Amino acid sequence: MTVVTRFAPSPTGFLHIGGARTALFNRLYARRHGGKFLLRIEDTDRARSTVAAKQAILEGLQWLGLEWDGAPVYQSTRAERHAAVARALLDTGGAYRCYCSPEELAAMREAARKRGSGRLYDGTWRDRDPAEAPEGVAPVVRLRAPLDGETVIDDAVQGRVAVRNDQLDDMVLLRADGTPTYMLSVVVDDHDMDITHVVRGDDHLTNAFRQTLIYRAMGWDIPVFAHIPLIHGPDGAKLSKRHGALGVEAYRDMGFPPEAVCNYLARLGWSHGDDEIFSMARAADWFDLEEVGKSPARFDLAKLTSLSAHYIREMADARLAGLIEPSLAARLGAPLTALQRARLVAGLPGLKPRARTLGDLAEAALFYCRPRPLQPDAKAAKLLDGDGRERLALARAALAGIANWSAESAESAVRAAAEAAGEKLGALAQPLRAALTGSTVSPGIFEVLDVLGKAESLGRIDDSLGRAAG
Ligand code: GLU
Repeated sequence: MTVVTRFAPSPTGFLHIGGARTALFNRLYARRHGGKFLLRIEDTDRARSTVAAKQAILEGLQWLGLEWDGAPVYQSTRAERHAAVARALLDTGGAYRCYCSPEELAAMREAARKRGSGRLYDGTWRDRDPAEAPEGVAPVVRLRAPLDGETVIDDAVQGRVAVRNDQLDDMVLLRADGTPTYMLSVVVDDHDMDITHVVRGDDHLTNAFRQTLIYRAMGWDIPVFAHIPLIHGPDGAKLSKRHGALGVEAYRDMGFPPEAVCNYLARLGWSHGDDEIFSMARAADWFDLEEVGKSPARFDLAKLTSLSAHYIREMADARLAGLIEPSLAARLGAPLTALQRARLVAGLPGLKPRARTLGDLAEAALFYCRPRPLQPDAKAAKLLDGDGRERLALARAALAGIANWSAESAESAVRAAAEAAGEKLGALAQPLRAALTGSTVSPGIFEVLDVLGKAESLGRIDDSLGRAAG
């Protein structure tokens, strides 16, 4: 049997972090078993589905690297097929037409409530002669559900869960206007797409019982269900926006690399021993539904941030530069030149150990890309006045004499100049930093000199000396 899983989002909002985890688990499970991971967009709620939401879901999945196999299936295009299945059930007696008016249904619901019964429809038309159908009333089609016994699901995460059949109504499959209900559409699509494993949030567990009845009525194989606990906030309450229940793009915009988000999501409710940091290829070798926890995982932004720092530290400089280049260009108001890009790549090894997010990194790297003359911030400007200016001039003279420019040769030259002037190294390094970076915080100053190169370094120093003089 080829394993086939699917992610089936409703495009009524962005791809939120819980949905992304569901997609990831489905994809990992399929990869683990050499199977397929399909995407179905459940866009039957025309009023609430938006093109923008569809786009956000596709882009979110792509950004995370959660590519699906084949073309996405759009549920709304399959309404005819769903209706045909309902008609097939009418033919076999697995379903029947119900002509109840909204008033009758409301009265039944009220009566059920009074009895304390979960069965809101009383089966009025179940065995009634269709010849008694009232004139001019378009019927709904209902499933003829079993009245006794129980429906059992052997859930791969929740274990055995059962519900008494007298708690399940004869659910509507086709509305009076002929449109299929959600419950019918999901089952028909999962069947037609050959889905073998339905991995989704446990808010769908109650649906699984009703869906099981439709599978049975059609004589179809029932997929393995795996209902994963929803994600909770750090305080144990259901995840809300306040906790980080944001769209995936919000995490992208916060500067978390996709690798870090995937690694974090993989660990959110699933574990493999004590392993915390691993690639998705590795996770696909390990992933199993048995290790998905039964209790809700808690979302922890600090953990995601520390994974983000890890992935940034480990990432190749060229890729990292590519990830932050758009934000640098936006801040500079122009695309990076080849020279700016080269400096950026050369500067990253010294910057990435300290960055927690790509935003941090872009902020720290900006000075390498800024065109001359730099505008020093207030603290840096203070270091470039009076004594500072004189020391900067000493450092400049020492640097100008270097034939083979490198961090080492720059350091020897500046040290020698400081000694000759009876100053500490810091007395020269501080204004140097202010002139070269426009700020008082940066990687080691000799590394900065090395990355900028001799001409740019002397140019930035001259800009400062010129400004201070003027
Ligand atoms: N469309 C449903 C949702 O977005 C998921 C349905 C399913 O996975 O069966 O919650």
